[in-house]
Amino acid sequence: MKLCASLALVLVLLFAAVDSAQEVDRVRVVLPAGAPQDVTHVARVFARQVAQRCETRVVTDEAAPLVIELALVPGIGPDGFRIEDRPGEGIRICAERARGLLYGVGKLLRTSRFERGGFSAGSWRGTSVPDKPVRGIYFATHFHNYYHDAPIEEVQRYVEDIGLWGYNTLLVWYDMHHFQGFDSREAVEFRQRLQAILGAARRLGLDVGFACVANEGYANSPEALRADVTGMRGAAFASDICTATAEGSRYVLGNFAELFDWAADLQPKWFLIWPYDSGGCGCARCQPWGHGGFLRCAQPLAHLARHKFPDAQVVLSTWFFTGEEWAGLRQAFASRPDWHTEHAPRTAVASRSAAGGLPGNQHGRLVGLGWIRRQSAPDALRPGMAGSQGPVAGWFSLLRGHFRGPQQGVVRAVLLGCRYDRRPDVAGVCRL
Ligand SMILES: [Zn+2]
Repeated sequence: MKLCASLALVLVLLFAAVDSAQEVDRVRVVLPAGAPQDVTHVARVFARQVAQRCETRVVTDEAAPLVIELALVPGIGPDGFRIEDRPGEGIRICAERARGLLYGVGKLLRTSRFERGGFSAGSWRGTSVPDKPVRGIYFATHFHNYYHDAPIEEVQRYVEDIGLWGYNTLLVWYDMHHFQGFDSREAVEFRQRLQAILGAARRLGLDVGFACVANEGYANSPEALRADVTGMRGAAFASDICTATAEGSRYVLGNFAELFDWAADLQPKWFLIWPYDSGGCGCARCQPWGHGGFLRCAQPLAHLARHKFPDAQVVLSTWFFTGEEWAGLRQAFASRPDWHTEHAPRTAVASRSAAGGLPGNQHGRLVGLGWIRRQSAPDALRPGMAGSQGPVAGWFSLLRGHFRGPQQGVVRAVLLGCRYDRRPDVAGVCRL
């Protein structure tokens, strides 16, 4: 009975708290003087979210019964935010930079109510700082799935959504096998699409990056340069390249140089270089691929990426590696300090499992990635499965079905995991 009484008291207090929030028909957003564009954009995201859910108007230049101030304040912590009562009236969201404000706006939106009478601001107050500095998601922008074909405005809104949930990094793949060369109409249009998607992230101060296959080629790659597909695992694209020859290597690096030059305005911070699925080559000169041909083409590609983008991090994937390849990689890295150094680890290693045992550095042993495809969300989210010990919380993306094409119909992407306040020991990647 005592428990029931306590529960009743909690419910009474809960409803009292909810009731105390005042429904308003207008909200005035106050920005810092001379607010940078990304901060202004965060305010627009807030206004759009409110407009989607109720009839409350968000204004900046007229009086309103509720004032929400976005303030740039030092000392909260990277990507952190604080929500507090504003002296005098309203609410103040404080952060060191725009994306911290975005995360604070997300928290406020999730704790607020939207009803016919209007917007009722959430009562949560406090400070929140993420455990991990990198919280990323990979959009599988190929195979005519959702990200490839959905109306671009919808995908841009989705980018804003993931920002509101606390992500700070968005990855895509410019999958060359779809296109007849860099200048083909389809490739040009697709890059415009990537620009629109990644630009939506950059406008909010989020970081962006590219996943790529170390030896990928366009659909019209020269047949004489092509890889032996018998050495591939997972997806096998006939257009991929054998980089054992100077011509093959030049072709691959030339394609990426064009892509990187195109991407300059986006200032990408991440490059994930993939060995298999697609990728690989079965020829005698490339085998063993994982610690042979793969490293031979991934290393100059990593150097090219760093040359074009000195602030970028390169992640070397070990997707589909065997134990022998892991051992070979460990040996190769023991004598290749330029791949990652103790003080400036520019190349992290992304593994399919937490295994591997590569030399560590101050950022931890590995960037842990888990294979969660076909797993249910609870399994995918179970703690410890990916063994993330580094600075990266995880590249985590799930789709509820993922193909959007003439046969498959339209399926909306859903987002699971990687919440701002999620458990720090969960990390994973889902190839889609
Ligand atoms: Zn080869």
